[in-house]
Amino acid sequence: MDIRMVRRNIRRLRYLLMGVVLIQSLFLVYVERVRLVDNAHELVWVSYLLHSVLAFYAMGTLVFLIFGKVDNKCHQTPIMRLPMMTVFMILVIAAVIALFDQITHGHITLFTIYMLAFGLLLYLKPPYNYGVYGIPFLLFVIAVLVFQSDINLVTTHLIYGTVIFVGILFTSTNFYMNFVNDLKSRDVLLEKNAQLEILSTVDPLTSLYNRRHLERQVKYEASINKRYQHEASLILIDIDHFKMINDNYGHQVGDLVLVDIAKILAASVRESDTVARFGGEEFMILASHTDLDGAMVLAHRLNKSIEKHVFTHHDVNVNVTVSIGVTRLDHENFDVSYKYVDDALYEAKESGRNKVVKKG
Ligand code: GH3
Ligand code: MG
Ligand code: MG
Repeated sequence: MDIRMVRRNIRRLRYLLMGVVLIQSLFLVYVERVRLVDNAHELVWVSYLLHSVLAFYAMGTLVFLIFGKVDNKCHQTPIMRLPMMTVFMILVIAAVIALFDQITHGHITLFTIYMLAFGLLLYLKPPYNYGVYGIPFLLFVIAVLVFQSDINLVTTHLIYGTVIFVGILFTSTNFYMNFVNDLKSRDVLLEKNAQLEILSTVDPLTSLYNRRHLERQVKYEASINKRYQHEASLILIDIDHFKMINDNYGHQVGDLVLVDIAKILAASVRESDTVARFGGEEFMILASHTDLDGAMVLAHRLNKSIEKHVFTHHDVNVNVTVSIGVTRLDHENFDVSYKYVDDALYEAKESGRNKVVKKG
């Protein structure tokens, strides 16, 4: 059973049990006590006892529910079955009370009230709910048939009882099914949102983050670094003469080069760094907790690994180089950092490509 359903059931059961305790106390004080004094019938004592049992049972369960632990794992523990057990026990006791009531007077109110209240407010799984409501109802029918001597009362009790029982079975099953469907559609929605979040932050070709996510991350990093006086750097990588690779070997090879470079970058940085595909054949790395010197070391390492790598697609082998710009992430104005890193990359291109240039 879903944890959300268990939680809701437990919460409602608390209120229901408070109601039971209250009703039973009122009964004991105002109805049963008066009957004890006025009515000489010895079975009134039994009835008094049964009402007390019901009150104590409800109170005991209530105390357990208030002080017992209902945590996230509770759907794996017996507490999950507690609402079912409690409803069953209370209805059975109420049916037995109805039995004695048939002998002394002719009430069925208590039984029908509890049947209605539990049936309308708790989610009990079908087909178990048939048993939980059905067995006490059967007891109730036997009590009325065997112990009620007034034929008019037998007829009315049976009609009322049956109408309520059938209605409760139908509503209880419907409630449960609707809630289950509701939870399912909520889960589907949550999953769709999660997928959408991935789609809006990840580049489909390389599976790296996209520019939008990187920019968000840069803003966040800048604010944290300002607060804690940390440094971070930006590394912008652009493939040299990439257009020629597309032109000479085709787009498929071009795509493969992009995917492989993405893998090299992702594998070369720390877990805390952010690697993104910044544009067509440009990649940006946000190197957390890394000063300019550290970022230069990383940039040179990336430059060499890509230079040495042989990109293979079927029988085509390609070598590529990259030009890299590096800068410090400015806490106050990160747009300046984007400009610096772009300038640095431009310089690397201008001064012959396959180079690492720092600025700022
Ligand atoms: P430079 O050394 O100056 O950077 O030269 P370049 O050819 O790399 O730069 P240019 O900006 O002239 O060309 C970039 C090329 O990248 C052109 C474009 O077709 C290609 N490109 C962009 N996105 C993709 C992609 O997703 N797949 C492939 N195969 N090519 C892409
Ligand atoms: Mg470019
Ligand atoms: Mg290029």
